[in-house]
Amino acid sequence: MKQEDIYVPSTMLAYQCSQSGECCGGWEIGLDKKSHDRLSYVLSRNNQKRLFKDTVKKVDPGDEKAKHGYYSIIQFVEGKCGMLEPNGLCGLHKNHGIEILPDICKAFPRLIYKTPLGKELSITFSCPSAAKLLKNREKIVMVKNPDNFFFAHGDLYYCYITKEIFDRKDIVQFYYHLEPHFIEILQTRSLTTEERLILLGITVKRLEALDQPTIDQINDTIQLNRSIIQQSFFKDDIKQIHSSIDHQVFLLKEFVNLRIPSVPNKELKEIFMYIAKTFRFDQADDKLNESVEIYTQYYWDYYHEAKEDIDHILENYLVFFILRKTFIKYTLHEAYFLTIFFYSLIRLLAMGLAIRDKQQVDEDLMIKAVWVIEKAIGHSYLFYQGIINFLREKDLTTVSHAITLLKTPDKRASKKEQIASFVD
Ligand code: SF4
Repeated sequence: MKQEDIYVPSTMLAYQCSQSGECCGGWEIGLDKKSHDRLSYVLSRNNQKRLFKDTVKKVDPGDEKAKHGYYSIIQFVEGKCGMLEPNGLCGLHKNHGIEILPDICKAFPRLIYKTPLGKELSITFSCPSAAKLLKNREKIVMVKNPDNFFFAHGDLYYCYITKEIFDRKDIVQFYYHLEPHFIEILQTRSLTTEERLILLGITVKRLEALDQPTIDQINDTIQLNRSIIQQSFFKDDIKQIHSSIDHQVFLLKEFVNLRIPSVPNKELKEIFMYIAKTFRFDQADDKLNESVEIYTQYYWDYYHEAKEDIDHILENYLVFFILRKTFIKYTLHEAYFLTIFFYSLIRLLAMGLAIRDKQQVDEDLMIKAVWVIEKAIGHSYLFYQGIINFLREKDLTTVSHAITLLKTPDKRASKKEQIASFVD
């Protein structure tokens, strides 16, 4: 039987687990039924029935966790997985080999998608070794069936995409034309990261305006973008888009104040409380102009100068955001807003870390910002959904609103600035 094709982002070929044990705490280790039975069998054969009994707990079938495919969970001891030994190594792995590990541990930090093409891989940067891959300066390409590539994949998939997407009548039927093009836009290095994201937003808006999209229209859009990128006036046109820094700061303030404190992660909470205080996000809305001034000042003092040195990190992060199939899971404009939201949050967090540490933003600080966000909220569907719901409630899911989060704050930001009609 022909082996299923596997598609691996080139950066991931260099991934190696550093056995930091970082991934073995801070969230619940859920077991599917097969992993549960495998653990039970191997541990009882090796006189470790007690360990199994004390550590693995069945999930009630009516429980929310059961709906996410958890049959049981491994209990924590002092905030870490009960299978972790005092030396920081996984006892299961050490004593019984990699094959016995729960499927979720075998896969992590890889995100494995079962799709019409075969298996497609992406990665979460909540693993510190994975986050270091963001330093790679080569453009990411998808490698089909790479040589000597192995990882102990069980039966667990992060997400299933069936071939029925090709029968859909909406834009999603062309997903496999759009994904490489979106990545191409994000890797256009003649543009700044913000310009690339603005072009992506304009593309999303154009695509969503197609009533009954056809492949010719998709190809025309792609060709149009390629010719736009070549034109020198494109950058000038983008400069004409006025940013509304008030709006940008207002949205960030709302997110920080409303959403982040409910995230059960101490490190993220602390840094965001620091940010709320530093940027005066804890003040009433009628004091927003103070926050705008502080945000603008800090942006220029701590972030702007470093942009060229950190752009590749953001580029890589954004490419992986696409490879996580965000533009299938949500409508195009919602996925676009999520992309911009995480981009803005990382930028804000990196600024906060830089101010706290009294240094300019640099590569390591950006990676730290990505890591903290991914660890705390990157996996949470509920959080993603919460953002979308929040934006819907406030009627803020348009591409134009998202673009206001992108523009560089003008050194003389004025309250009178308005969102331009450029993309409307
Ligand atoms: S089972 Fe092992 S690899 Fe999995 S979370 Fe526990 S200690 Fe880590």
